[in-house]
Amino acid sequence: MELAQTILDDTKKDFCPDTRAAFHGEFARLISIPLSLHHDIRYYLFAEEELDSELYKSLKFECLKLDNAKAQFKCPNTYCQHAWTSMRARISFSITNPSSGFIVLKIFGQNCQHCGANADALWYIGKCFIFIILCWQFLFSYF
Ligand SMILES: [Zn+2]
Repeated sequence: MELAQTILDDTKKDFCPDTRAAFHGEFARLISIPLSLHHDIRYYLFAEEELDSELYKSLKFECLKLDNAKAQFKCPNTYCQHAWTSMRARISFSITNPSSGFIVLKIFGQNCQHCGANADALWYIGKCFIFIILCWQFLFSYF
């Protein structure tokens, strides 16, 4: 408890890997396991920043789907620190053919309306579920 109080709000976003782990777990449960059972197809989901750039470049994506989702942003400018929620954060799913089996998720940054700095979206559990639902709708329309 005491330790948690010493963590600055700014540092909390560094805990994202945990959120992502939950995200991957949910993805496996809701998408990749049903797909492999019913269609004998295996897909793995990555956030773009998780992938090695060489690997990313070597992947051949067959299809790209863009969507809007609710996301939270925080300005990286330490003098500004403006935080906001957007209902229209752009996200993309890039999907390879089933033999490679990669889905790469990208969330586009937004410019801070106060100072113009480009801010990355923050990862939250709640948002992950929205992405999984979008991804699920998309994959099942694809097959
Ligand atoms: Zn700003």
